[in-house]
Amino acid sequence: MKIYNTMSRKKEEFVPIEPGKVRMYVCGPTVYNLIHIGNARPMIVFDTVRRYMERKGYEVNYVSNFTDVDDKIIKKATEEGVDAGVISERYIAECKKDMASLNVRPATTHPQATQEIDGMEEMIGTLIRKRYAYPAADGTVYYRTRSFSGYGKLSHKNIDELEGGKRSLLVSGQDQKEDPLDFVLWKPKKEGEPFWKSPWCDGRPGWHIECSVMSRKYLGDEIDIHAGGEDLIFPHHENEIAQSEAANGTTFARYWMHNAFLNIDNHKMSKSAGNFFTVRDILEKYDPMVLRFFMLSAHYRSPLNFSAELMEAAANGLERIRTAVENLRFKAENAREGELSGQERELLERAKEFEDKFDQAMDDDFNTADAIAAIFELVKFANTCGEAEHTSAFWKELEKKITSLCDVCGLIVEKKEELLDADVEALIRERQEARKAKNFTRADEIRQELFDKGIVLEDTREGVKWKRA
Ligand code: AMP
Ligand code: ZN
Repeated sequence: MKIYNTMSRKKEEFVPIEPGKVRMYVCGPTVYNLIHIGNARPMIVFDTVRRYMERKGYEVNYVSNFTDVDDKIIKKATEEGVDAGVISERYIAECKKDMASLNVRPATTHPQATQEIDGMEEMIGTLIRKRYAYPAADGTVYYRTRSFSGYGKLSHKNIDELEGGKRSLLVSGQDQKEDPLDFVLWKPKKEGEPFWKSPWCDGRPGWHIECSVMSRKYLGDEIDIHAGGEDLIFPHHENEIAQSEAANGTTFARYWMHNAFLNIDNHKMSKSAGNFFTVRDILEKYDPMVLRFFMLSAHYRSPLNFSAELMEAAANGLERIRTAVENLRFKAENAREGELSGQERELLERAKEFEDKFDQAMDDDFNTADAIAAIFELVKFANTCGEAEHTSAFWKELEKKITSLCDVCGLIVEKKEELLDADVEALIRERQEARKAKNFTRADEIRQELFDKGIVLEDTREGVKWKRA
């Protein structure tokens, strides 16, 4: 399995630190609003990486943080007149709902910055002791960027060029810095903001330190894969490396993976530019699996432009797979029982070639575009197996091959069972009887069962009305 490593700018063979295990950290969202579909790209991409690693037999320890203390969260809290924690908890819950809709599995651990302040103070203390950091007169703690000789190795920037042009590096409190390149590890509180006590001042952490600390706590000093969107390469990941490697004295991450942007009209989708659709906006119009399919139809390192046409193409592609799976199930149910014949075994051997193609594509730096093409080839092959006298076991095996590859992509391809009107009405009658008999538990169960299948009930004076949601 080869992974493109941003650090070496090459595809490298993946060799885990510990055989059979993968330690992986993915920088998560800052939670002050509903996530947009640009934020969903790394979630879907790296969830698929994780699923593929598991297909290869690895046990994956997958950590992804929520940044829950930040200027934007505090601003929103002030606008609403609530504590910052109210805002972050609300949007963590909403983000988890969106992840579930998109079939993004929860991480092994989802640490939150505000729960890890002790660890941050400890690491900052170590960096000061090792002279990689220093407190200024007002209690701000800065990282002494020039003291870390490897600074710039991930983003391939030369430290002297940085000093020349990049005014964006000059953060507030600049006058207290020894060097304009130095970045903040800890900053003093401002009026009305959340703060924690520390040896340097009452304040809060800078953004970068949280990932160094949480990665070490949940995965160890050295990890296999660190990932995120490409906007994080500099300065976020560069600063994480400077912090972790200086504090721990070892390589921070062996492979650095970055997804390209999700664009709209060829511009990065972002909250600040205002050119975004939330995941919620999109799910009002499309099946969540269509969004997931769309994201995986491009290689993760290629920019992807959001458009109605591409979503339409994704919907058609998904439908083709779903129809094939449905047909195979129908055939399996109606075919004769019995052992696989020699000819059936041969056909399944040929089907395996497409599975191998899928694996080869994924082994080549997770080329999901080619992997999905291999699924289509398998679907085409299944469709040409005809109506012949095959056994139920044969059809089942073929169906399993398709659905298991889809599952690696996190694509749910089962068609939702739709209730016929007559079935709905029969259930409603049963519910009425249960209520008459004061069996409210059963009545509630039926309401829930209908709800799960997209049927909403309304009790009116004229009786029960229902509609499909
Ligand atoms: P943020 O909440 O901005 O820190 O972003 C959370 C994650 O989403 C990071 O990994 C970002 O790199 C990623 N991200 C943000 N915008 C986009 C976009 N338009 N396309 C792809 N990834 C993005
Ligand atoms: Zn991070």
